[in-house]
Amino acid sequence: MRIDWSTILAGRARAFRPCIRTDFSSLPTPPDVIHFTGGAPPLECLPAEPLGEALARAWRTEPTGLWYGETEGHRPLREAIAARLAQRGATVDPDTILITQGAQQAIDLVARALLEPGDRVLVEGPTYFGALQVFEPYDVRIEAIPLDEEGVVLDELAAALARSPRPKLFYTVPTFQNPAGVTMTLERRRAVVELAAQYGVPIVEDDPYGDLWYETPPPPPLRAFWDEVLSLGSFSKTLAPGLRVGWLVAPPHLMKLLIDAKEAADIQSDRLLQRAITAVITSPWYEEHLARARRIYAERCQLLAEALARELGECAAWSLPRGGFFLWITLRGVEESASLLPHCAAAGVTFVPGSEFYPDHRPSPSLRLGFTTLSREDLLKGAERLGRVLRETIVE
Ligand code: PMP
Repeated sequence: MRIDWSTILAGRARAFRPCIRTDFSSLPTPPDVIHFTGGAPPLECLPAEPLGEALARAWRTEPTGLWYGETEGHRPLREAIAARLAQRGATVDPDTILITQGAQQAIDLVARALLEPGDRVLVEGPTYFGALQVFEPYDVRIEAIPLDEEGVVLDELAAALARSPRPKLFYTVPTFQNPAGVTMTLERRRAVVELAAQYGVPIVEDDPYGDLWYETPPPPPLRAFWDEVLSLGSFSKTLAPGLRVGWLVAPPHLMKLLIDAKEAADIQSDRLLQRAITAVITSPWYEEHLARARRIYAERCQLLAEALARELGECAAWSLPRGGFFLWITLRGVEESASLLPHCAAAGVTFVPGSEFYPDHRPSPSLRLGFTTLSREDLLKGAERLGRVLRETIVE
């Protein structure tokens, strides 16, 4: 007998979906297609050797790391994260840091702890689609607050905070934003924190890119200005996304509850791996690695921007990010960038359409280009293909 799952599934399961709705596999592409869709470090920036050695050492010296253990995470790793945050201007007690399966699990734990059906959730527009993927099944009302060159637009945020019912949280990626590349200025950070504090609305700050600046470090994390901020970080972009290790800095009185939520979800993160990561990020190798990664990303970003300026000319506008993984470009004379995707794919280049980054999937003339994993040749070739399709379709 077959079960009729439609009568069994939870209501929230109807909102489960892949984080990107575009089905890239259904687009016919030539074999040498260039994907601007990625958001990961390239192979040459992965920590294979130091991490392999550190894992082997942890395996030899701390075999009890294979047992069940601390749900909140390995204390020396939490201390090392606190030390790094202190360098960036945020003083946090290691006891308020929870190690998670990447920043994604941190978003999920926060949502589990705070959200109820009908709640209002404020996000930036555009925002990280993986956060939308977490929030949507909670049957909440997600509102996108526009961004400008300095971060979230204050008047709009203030108006949304003032409306009732009071929003449950404001989720922001203030530094080298995914997807828009925008970094919230220092003044804007202070003002955003002040507003959220005034209305008693928690800020969830998602900051996986803060260490990956090109020329100068970004302003301090929002957590530096208010200890009620929930601040998330990750080793996915600085080391490797396959490790699945990130963290959540919690307001002190929420820590116990979030540890319980983590225990219910997966008991603990990989303990041996946490020991190895601690060794790697406290060794001199890590700073050298970050310096090299920053240089590589800055060069790729610059190269792509120059190529786009040549190839796209008047067809598009963008601002150069000062760190991170993405270039966000806005097309002129196009209402919905997704409509160009089949033409681009046929010409051998793909991107993530802007509509993916809004809770209502509104038509967007923008698109996200991820450049970190592409070689110099592919960046140039990709820009050329993009330019060719845009000139043909926009002129038509
Ligand atoms: N937040 C943002 C803003 C991201 O860009 C990403 C990765 N794409 C994540 C969270 C998820 O990171 P992790 O791999 O640490 O779960």
